[in-house]
Amino acid sequence: MAEKLFADVLVEVSGVKPDRTFQYRVPEKLALSLRFGHRVHIPFGGRRVTGFVVGISGEKSVEQVKDIIGLADEKPLFREDQFALARWMAGYYFCSTVRALQAIIAPVLKKTASRRVARYFCAAGAGELPAIREELARRAPKSLAVLEAALVNAGLTRGELAAAAGASPSVVDKLAARGLLRVESKTFYRDPYPQPAAADAVQVRLTAEQKRAVQDILAPLKDGEHRVVMLHGVTGSGKTEVYLRCIEHVLRAGRQAVTLVPEISLTPQMVRLYKARFGSDVAVLHSRMSDGERYDEWMRIESGAAPVVLGTRSAVLAPVSDPGLIILDEEHEWSYKQEETPRYHARAVALYRAQKSRGVLVLGSATPSLESYCRALPGGVYKLVSLAKRVDGRIMPAVQIIDMREEMRDGNGGIFSLPLLQKLEEKLHNKEQAIIFLNRRGLKTLVVCRECGLVLKCPRCEISLTYHADGRLRCHYCNYTVKAPELCPDCGSRQIGYFGTGTQRVEKELQALIPAARILRLDADTTSRKGSHQQILDAFKNGEADILVGTQMIAKGLDMPGVTLVGVINADVTLHMPDFRAGERTFQLLTQVAGRTGRGDKPGEVLIQTYTPEHYSVQAATRHDYKAFFKQEMALRKDMGYPPFAKMVRLLVQGRDESAVRQAAEHLRAQLDGFACLPEGAKIFIVGPAPAPLARLKENYRWHIIAWSADYRGLRRVMKEFWRATGGEAPGKGLRLSIDVDPMNI
Ligand code: ADP
Ligand code: ZN
Ligand code: ZN
Repeated sequence: MAEKLFADVLVEVSGVKPDRTFQYRVPEKLALSLRFGHRVHIPFGGRRVTGFVVGISGEKSVEQVKDIIGLADEKPLFREDQFALARWMAGYYFCSTVRALQAIIAPVLKKTASRRVARYFCAAGAGELPAIREELARRAPKSLAVLEAALVNAGLTRGELAAAAGASPSVVDKLAARGLLRVESKTFYRDPYPQPAAADAVQVRLTAEQKRAVQDILAPLKDGEHRVVMLHGVTGSGKTEVYLRCIEHVLRAGRQAVTLVPEISLTPQMVRLYKARFGSDVAVLHSRMSDGERYDEWMRIESGAAPVVLGTRSAVLAPVSDPGLIILDEEHEWSYKQEETPRYHARAVALYRAQKSRGVLVLGSATPSLESYCRALPGGVYKLVSLAKRVDGRIMPAVQIIDMREEMRDGNGGIFSLPLLQKLEEKLHNKEQAIIFLNRRGLKTLVVCRECGLVLKCPRCEISLTYHADGRLRCHYCNYTVKAPELCPDCGSRQIGYFGTGTQRVEKELQALIPAARILRLDADTTSRKGSHQQILDAFKNGEADILVGTQMIAKGLDMPGVTLVGVINADVTLHMPDFRAGERTFQLLTQVAGRTGRGDKPGEVLIQTYTPEHYSVQAATRHDYKAFFKQEMALRKDMGYPPFAKMVRLLVQGRDESAVRQAAEHLRAQLDGFACLPEGAKIFIVGPAPAPLARLKENYRWHIIAWSADYRGLRRVMKEFWRATGGEAPGKGLRLSIDVDPMNI
């Protein structure tokens, strides 16, 4: 007779305190099978709900306990370390533990929703194919058509294969029965990447810089120590090769390695390289996979079959049990921040995991975030490793700034400056390719003087004011408002107003100016169809066009050896985003864009059009001088008390009724003020409520309050009080509150 067992169960029921568990009795029939991490059915408030077992004990802690009804799944869904991660995330980001846990095991929870389909593959070996072809051609041409279709397209379903061959599905069955087709009911992972070439598996000789980087990364691992390494390498310095070598070592030690990339579709060469080096040891995880595909990869990681994980943000939650190495490639990228609950940053989660497993966290970037880089300075807690040279000794592209105010004064009010046009024509003449890069984000709300370059800023926050429909300029941080001026307050010009150009207009104007040019456009409109993104890039790479016009999408990861010129149309748009990180973003973007050129044999050139040529972000980017940028930007942040000199939190209220949203936000502000002036509070800056950028999104009005403080712990104390009091509950009917710790998009 087994002794009595009780389970602590975590439930997701509104109105329940966010991290509270409830005790249930484990009925005898489950005494042997129930374990930590099981999902169970339980009675709760007269209903039957599911919950997660996060503790088992022999002691009853409350008088009245009900019985668990049954197991929802055969096996437990998570381990203790994964639950500890959920607890940490909930505590750090102020969300409920169950929401964090659900994010961590999402692929398993979604699995039941995915149906597995049978997929068909040609099973005939290359040697026997000719004979089979000949036989079928004589006897069963339809069967031959099916076999050929299966050869061209591996992994089609029964219906797809029949349709592709113009045959009836019964022909597919016949071939399968004959053993000429192999059926796999496991979800087939459709690999969108080119198969690895033999060359990808070749181990290049590391440069001296790369060798040292590998040593520096591996050194702490040999001593079983946790360390964060900031790998600051210029574009083209061969960071990927460094990652690969380090991973090999980690695998030999019997541990796992996780590599995160900002967006998988932009890094096909990385996937190819990983697969070439590590074969089926690699599991790939990203958002464009089907639930079934993701589940399969997840299980391969969990079982230990795939010790190398390569994926986007959520791959940081992968069920590796002993990550010796976690790599964040392009660590500064904004896509590492999740913009819905739990609003985690992959870097912060990676740091937690690397600490717990005594692993090394590598933060790789050509343009590190200020937050990371300042920790890698002398005396800091991270180790700085630099790759200052491009491999093969290729030189960095020459960058030239074009002052658009001068163009304006010379009577050129168009999109293209004269120097850029001349360069484009020169490239066309030399049969070289060019990329025209256009910034779109925040385009419609930026007001700029085209004669002197003035952009109005909030006198309190140093944030660019943005134009609102009511004809006023507004600060998105503190809600300072002022009437939009008709004349430039600095130079008196009338040329002050919206600053907006779409990719379509750029393409049209360019075509009119250079009729002979073959132009391709890459933006949200031209890439809405699946696969069209790659098609356009392939066409460009194959030389089917001379000029590629595109948005942010083309800034990252592209490797186009034929491109020798990049033109940036409007560097100012990012520079004046209503965000305290605008300068940082501009530097990152310009550096990245510049990295797209000169990747072939010929050196590259970059032309940047701007109304603010003197800005240090633009200046430093032209000289490829990260340190100069860092110094200036840090000084500004220090002046304003912004991160990395402070910790920041944002409270965002959303709802359909604008006045209700606003009132709730004002009430929250008063609450926050109350906690902040408690004796144990902290010196905190609080601004708002103000309309958030994207003040109206999908029918919802959005207002926010921003709080920051140099006193991290003090701010946390205040937020804990706030969280204890509100529990993240909706601040009113039809309203939603999100707490965003370390916000990025503000
Ligand atoms: P990064 O990520 O630092 O911008 P990559 O990792 O993409 O740079 O490397 C740039 C190019 O240099 C790649 O084509 C890569 O194959 C090549 N490469 C890397 N290391 C070496 C090396 N030691 N010798 C020769 N080529 C190398
Ligand atoms: Zn002016
Ligand atoms: Zn302000």
